[in-house]
Amino acid sequence: MRFPNGQEVIQVFEKLAPKSLAMDGDKIGLQIGTLQKPIKKIMITLDVLEDVVDEAIVKQVDLIIAHHPVIYNPLKTVITDNPSGRIVGKCLKNDITVYAAHTNLDVAIGGVNDLLTVALELEDTEVLVPTFEDSLKKLAVYVPEDHAEKMRNVLGSAGAGYIGNYSHCTFNSAGTGTFLPNDGANPFIGEQGKLEHVAEVKIETIFPGSIQNKVINAMLKAHPYEEPAYDIYPLENKGPTLGLGRIGVLKKEMTLKEFAEHVKSSLDVSGVRVVGDLGSIVRKVAVLGGDGGKFWSKAKFKGADVFVTGDIYYHVAHDAMMEGLNMVDPGHNVEKVMKQGVQKYLQSFITEKKYDTTVITSQVHTDPFQFM
Ligand SMILES: [Zn+2]
Repeated sequence: MRFPNGQEVIQVFEKLAPKSLAMDGDKIGLQIGTLQKPIKKIMITLDVLEDVVDEAIVKQVDLIIAHHPVIYNPLKTVITDNPSGRIVGKCLKNDITVYAAHTNLDVAIGGVNDLLTVALELEDTEVLVPTFEDSLKKLAVYVPEDHAEKMRNVLGSAGAGYIGNYSHCTFNSAGTGTFLPNDGANPFIGEQGKLEHVAEVKIETIFPGSIQNKVINAMLKAHPYEEPAYDIYPLENKGPTLGLGRIGVLKKEMTLKEFAEHVKSSLDVSGVRVVGDLGSIVRKVAVLGGDGGKFWSKAKFKGADVFVTGDIYYHVAHDAMMEGLNMVDPGHNVEKVMKQGVQKYLQSFITEKKYDTTVITSQVHTDPFQFM
């Protein structure tokens, strides 16, 4: 049986949700326990309630990955007579590590908000509230001619060469590379002590700075040379914009009443609160997982017909209603879409690496509200 170390799991997870994407002051990362241990079972959860920890104990979970931080306000004491102390105590006693990815998972490409747009079947989506502008960089790598096509594919698959709706964009120039293998070298081409001339291609491509490690590691892995030659340049060009919430369009327009039903079924909730005329037509939809009422004017400004978010306040609903923006509140708990999303992401890493780790989602219902 083969199991990854906790740090390896988190390194892979942070490619999905880099810590650098989190809002200032958010409480993210390792919160309880250690990552210096083999991970046989991972459980993904939206919230870390005491019931969720009990579930983790029964299921012999080594690592919990949660969206909502288990410790948000600093704990002054850890007393196991109250729930917050018992959660920490039970985790430590049962060697359960807790790691949180909060606003970084909201902002992440493929994170909570993107998962919500997939569930709601929105198309042509873009960011609703920009919070982070990525840098752009250029990579130039020199490869022997017969390895150029493979390298172009590898770089494209790693996320380099995206320009608008085009991927795998590169520029290629042919030339001659020279090198002299010295003592201790084990050259792919040529021999020690002899100056070698090789027909090479210089492949140039761009990539977002946030995925530099991924792109460079993929390039190094695919390069035949012992010591690949490459250059990385910073660019003045603007990189992709990341942020909270998304805005997109439905395949076909529907009434607000039909849309509210669509939200209910696609986000798996038993009720929604609706603001606006149920007969009005909606096509352009803004969505922001969690407590997003304060961003209603962004949704209005970007031309949304309806804004889907949780925890909407009475006066916010009045303001939006007076401005003619429909709202649908399916609750904060719809962020539970992250459970399947993160499970799928980690499972593909486990499968690819042929590890024996199990990745499960918590089955505890953590929505505190019920409809009567
Ligand atoms: Zn939330």
